[in-house]
Amino acid sequence: MQITYQFRLYPTPEQEEGMIRTLILCRKLYNRAKEQRDTVYNQEGTTVTYAMQQNELPAFKKEFPEYKEVHSQVLQDCLRRLDDAYQRFFRGDAGFPHYKSADRYLSFTYPQPGAVDKTFARNGYVYLSKIGFVRLRAHHGCFRRLAGFRCLYVHTDPHDPSVCMPFYVDLGHIRPVERNQKVVRQRKDFLHKQSHRIVQGHDLIAVEQLKVKNMICNRRLSKSIADAGWRRFITYLSYKAARQGKRLVEVPAHGTSQTCICGADVPKTLAIRLHECEACGLVQDRDIVSAQVILQRALDIVA
Ligand SMILES: [Zn+2]
Repeated sequence: MQITYQFRLYPTPEQEEGMIRTLILCRKLYNRAKEQRDTVYNQEGTTVTYAMQQNELPAFKKEFPEYKEVHSQVLQDCLRRLDDAYQRFFRGDAGFPHYKSADRYLSFTYPQPGAVDKTFARNGYVYLSKIGFVRLRAHHGCFRRLAGFRCLYVHTDPHDPSVCMPFYVDLGHIRPVERNQKVVRQRKDFLHKQSHRIVQGHDLIAVEQLKVKNMICNRRLSKSIADAGWRRFITYLSYKAARQGKRLVEVPAHGTSQTCICGADVPKTLAIRLHECEACGLVQDRDIVSAQVILQRALDIVA
């Protein structure tokens, strides 16, 4: 039997920032790994396994150095969660895995935190690799509904109390409700401005169906829009376009990151940021090529 202890964490502002950054990076990796699994399956009919994705991590970190800020086992756990979601689906225990939005990716796990004497070397603190010694207090009773809590679940192994079992840092409910409503208002406002600007400047607007990325050749803008709600953004775009007699075309999202403008398949692993087509020689950022493929599909639909 394992015993689970629950602690409340009291991170410093820098540590809190580090924890939130960890969550964001883990969620991006999860979604990117899911995209890879789905496109490879759709194009080649083969399954990308956990082991294959884990083996890609070193190359992935080289291409995206921001991931060096996250403990490698935390990243492995993130791929493991995705694999678990697919395994549950294959067994018939759950539906097809979804992409994760920020409000659905709220925890990260240290699967092998190491020896107790190192992890709890400082009294009243826990050592989280890449984040540092974080102050904690033992917790009794339920505070799940409290705003702003951060929580640590530690399991101990009764057979060997010197070993920490996997532990789990939950950053749910970070924002108090009032602040959350303000954020929602700001995001709606942002979406209105951006959709207005796009409709003003273009006669044809091409977007992927139900897909949060790659729709505009601007990483910062597309990231902000992804955070603010893609579905709502499409709604704003479509009624603003209709009002001004412009055209909004939604195209199938299938394989847009794995195809060249010339029509050739250009499969890409997680770590490949550059599109290099052997058929036509095109070398370009993968997001830009995806956007061009989307536009081309839209033009085919309109023609
Ligand atoms: Zn090509």
